[in-house]
Amino acid sequence: MKLTELFRRDAMSLSFEVFPPKTSTAFDSVKAAVEEIAGLHPSFMSVTYGAGGGTSRYTLDIAKNIHDLYGVPTLAHLTCVSSTRETVREKIAQIRAAGIENVMALRGDLTPELEVGDRSSWAYRHAIDLIRDIKESGADFCIGGACYPEIHPESANQAEDIKHLKEKVDAGCEFLTTQMFFDNNLLYNFLYKIREAGITVPIIPGIMPITNANQVERAVKLSGSFMPQRFKSLVDKFGSSPAAMKQAGIAYATDQIIDLYANGIKNVHVYSMNKPDVAAKIQANLSDIIG
Ligand code: FAD
Repeated sequence: MKLTELFRRDAMSLSFEVFPPKTSTAFDSVKAAVEEIAGLHPSFMSVTYGAGGGTSRYTLDIAKNIHDLYGVPTLAHLTCVSSTRETVREKIAQIRAAGIENVMALRGDLTPELEVGDRSSWAYRHAIDLIRDIKESGADFCIGGACYPEIHPESANQAEDIKHLKEKVDAGCEFLTTQMFFDNNLLYNFLYKIREAGITVPIIPGIMPITNANQVERAVKLSGSFMPQRFKSLVDKFGSSPAAMKQAGIAYATDQIIDLYANGIKNVHVYSMNKPDVAAKIQANLSDIIG
């Protein structure tokens, strides 16, 4: 199923993200965790992609498994930075041949080497180049893209970021999933600004349940997200007790999601990080809300 069909429905949706293993030895354990999450029958599942293609084969294997064995609509991520057009075209064909109808078109993060290297020969500089390529390939995908309520770190300001986002949507991006955020007001402000800029596609907020204290630093470094005092207090109080931190982190994420639904957002994506117990608890917490 194309995700645009899901997003057109009146019902609320809850979806989960998983990531492929980095090595073949971890494949079986990741596969088992992913299958447990797929067994919860979420509205859809997304599978991330290693920039530079390091784990690219596993992305497709995992995505195909979710789609074939569990019938859960699947979104395969694809990055393009430092890839050749031939590799990307081949990946697009493989994703389509696997029966997957949704692709998240991403640029990918710049590694330190890429940041200082000569960009003149790059086939793809931005996600928009990948979106155009997918369209040109004729593959019939529902295409998603990423957006940043707290601004992409490379953007000089929000107006510039939103201008490029609008171009991405005009090129064929049919929905946008957000970077994680821990203060819903940032999302509401962002929504106001992008709607004003004429971006009308569905925006899917991405919620990251922080279930251990070590994750906090990594998450902030990765996303540059603002940590509200309410969240910091929770980490200060419960961070040293793994069980308590997990419970508090799941409750915080649940609270964020309920607030989003209550404010008219229909579709929420959870960065479930290959943790079936976390995904299951969040889903159970919302069972009477999402029906
Ligand atoms: P772009 O849309 O290209 O934007 C990157 C920067 O370039 C922004 O500052 C933007 O404003 C600017 N820009 C865009 N177009 C232009 C233009 N035409 N001219 C000048 N500037 C422009 N990474 C992975 O490696 N694998 C994944 O699976 C993955 N999944 C993700 C899922 C989500 C929901 C999110 C939010 C991020 C994900 N990432 C993933 C991280 C992502 O690859 C990085 O954030 C990356 O730095 C930017 O990717 P993008 O697709 O947003 O890039």
